[in-house]
Amino acid sequence: MTLKVGILGFGGLGQAAAKLLSAKQEMQLVVAADKEGFAYDRNGLNAADVIAAYQSKGSLGYLEPSGILTQDSIAEAIATAKDVDGYFLALPNLPNTFMASVAKQFIASGWKGVLVDAIKRTSAVEQMITLAPELSAAGITYMSGCGATPGLLTAAAAIAAQSFAEVHKVEITFGVGIANWNAYRATIREDIAHMSGYTVDMAQAMTDAEVEALLEKTNGLIALENMEHADDIMLERVGICDRDRVTVGGVVDTRNPKKPLSTNMKLTGRTFEGKISTHTFTLGDETSMAANVCGPAFGYLKAGKQFHQRGIYGLMTAAEVMPAFVR
Ligand code: NAD
Repeated sequence: MTLKVGILGFGGLGQAAAKLLSAKQEMQLVVAADKEGFAYDRNGLNAADVIAAYQSKGSLGYLEPSGILTQDSIAEAIATAKDVDGYFLALPNLPNTFMASVAKQFIASGWKGVLVDAIKRTSAVEQMITLAPELSAAGITYMSGCGATPGLLTAAAAIAAQSFAEVHKVEITFGVGIANWNAYRATIREDIAHMSGYTVDMAQAMTDAEVEALLEKTNGLIALENMEHADDIMLERVGICDRDRVTVGGVVDTRNPKKPLSTNMKLTGRTFEGKISTHTFTLGDETSMAANVCGPAFGYLKAGKQFHQRGIYGLMTAAEVMPAFVR
């Protein structure tokens, strides 16, 4: 069976997600939305066409014949595309409550299916956890924190923990290289929000010129440590370790697609025999942020669908479910 899939948010990650889906047999893109409009075709959208419409005209709403221009694109897309099995929410979480408000829109709409997000902040995933009873009552299986970090690397930590009787620390260090910050505007703004002296509201309010001026000062690099990242509560929630044992940091180069460092997860613990050791999981340098976010997101969507079919609804995170592989 081919799952009918939607993508909300059509920036850097949304477009990469559409390209990734075009090579899959088990999933078909039928609806996609950006801030100014959406496109829906029950027989499938062509990734190259939707990307071309977005890039040349600024919105999917201009796509002929399936595009619709609207300032209420999420609500209209949900109402129009009733046959969708699941959505990847590739939306900015600006303000920090935005993704939770989208989840509430789905709950209110009466739609039933699978939702997957790649949100990053601890406080953002906490809002989703609070919504778990409502999601469950609405017949929605919601997979939260299912990108790269949180996501792939958190899941790797959950697997690595199995060798140990006690987990002492989990250290996630990411390296991201992108040719131009413009391709991932929300990602970069949300990263700036983690820099000392900045908040989410400040980063959201920055003009493009202000972002460029800041990146000019740092030579295009954003170095981050001790970030507020939900890997911590996701691992705590499943009893692997307390949140204060989990640290996340990294370097983003906004002027070079080459990664400034290899993304890795190091988990240190004590085995049942009393040995202290560290498991390391390192991502290949050639794999892009888009590959490491969108791949897991759809893997978790497929896993979420298997739960949904069995009548299991509510909220799960990347640390408690094994992603399925999408063929
Ligand atoms: P982007 O800025 O490139 O694109 C955002 C898209 O969302 C645009 O198409 C925009 O039109 C659309 N949008 C904005 N507001 C909307 C609204 N109200 N209704 C409909 N569409 C709307 O974003 P990006 O850089 O691709 O990042 C998307 C998200 O992914 C960010 O929140 C980022 O933090 C997250 N992310 C997570 C990970 C991870 O590993 N977990 C990694 C990278 C990015």
